[in-house]
Amino acid sequence: MRATVMYGAGDVRVENVPDATVSEPTDAVVRVTRACICGSDLWPYKTMEHTEGGRAMGHEAIGVVDAVGADVGTLKVGDLVVMPFAFSDGTCEFCHEGLQTSCSHGGFFGTAEVPGAQAEAVRVPQADGTLFVLPVSEDDALMPSLVTLSDVMGTGHHAAVAAKVGPGKTVAVVGDGAVGLCAVIAAKRLGAEQIIILGRHPDRIALAREFGATQVVRERGDEAVERVRELTEGYGVHSVLECVGLEQSELTAIEIARPGGAVGRVGVPQDETMPASQPAFYNNISVSGGPAPVRAYIEELLPDILEGRIEPGRVFDRVLGLDEVSDGYRAMNDREAIKVMVSP
Ligand SMILES: [Zn+2]
Repeated sequence: MRATVMYGAGDVRVENVPDATVSEPTDAVVRVTRACICGSDLWPYKTMEHTEGGRAMGHEAIGVVDAVGADVGTLKVGDLVVMPFAFSDGTCEFCHEGLQTSCSHGGFFGTAEVPGAQAEAVRVPQADGTLFVLPVSEDDALMPSLVTLSDVMGTGHHAAVAAKVGPGKTVAVVGDGAVGLCAVIAAKRLGAEQIIILGRHPDRIALAREFGATQVVRERGDEAVERVRELTEGYGVHSVLECVGLEQSELTAIEIARPGGAVGRVGVPQDETMPASQPAFYNNISVSGGPAPVRAYIEELLPDILEGRIEPGRVFDRVLGLDEVSDGYRAMNDREAIKVMVSP
């Protein structure tokens, strides 16, 4: 089968690899009908050391179940499923708590352990706990929005949950990538009254406004902090949704939270330590977040997509075939595309 392999920074190739197969009785094999390139794929695209074996990329997909292992009970061949970016058994203590990204038998796609989904097919461990059957057909018009349940919409929602967004709250979203844009949708959906987006790309800002952002802060650093305070009677916001993961964005996130506020972090941190420990302490700011348990959120978010209340699929501004995936990485890295969907 054909699959996307990254060999080092800037070196993405589509190659013939061994077919995905059922190797554990709890596995399923999914024929991928839609996959995506994620903002988090751009970190290795910028920095990965060259390796001989490469890394099979991709952790967001929708597809059709092609084969199931002997112990798979809830899925059958032909089911259309969405695949969260992490696999999970659905039965352990953490899965029961809705924290599937900490599953005792879980892990992540697109790693050394489990090859990725920017491919014709993907092996899905713990298939019963991981995959969610969708009540639509393979070519449904809602496919772009549905595939965001794999990661970006669930991740934006997690930022909002971690930042304690609720009715009447003031919110700031740091970052205008696909996750930041979905975080705007999530904040509005949870009843936020004021939603400030921090970002500077005109196309993304325009979409953020359509999704519900009420104000835009284009400045960075201290100037951004000052602007957010001006927009919030000098206080800062109740909830900050940090969707970048760089030192500067984490610092800004803490500095724009009002005393007693909360920061929900979903940008993969690029540093070992977290900045702004003292302002966070003196202002009693809760800092929470991490890899989103998107599996836990599908049930809640799906009806809003099916009934047209939210349209997170609008973050996709380019659709490519599998053979063009390398150009998709380049386009996202050059900020030519917000988010790329791959149709194998
Ligand atoms: Zn589990």
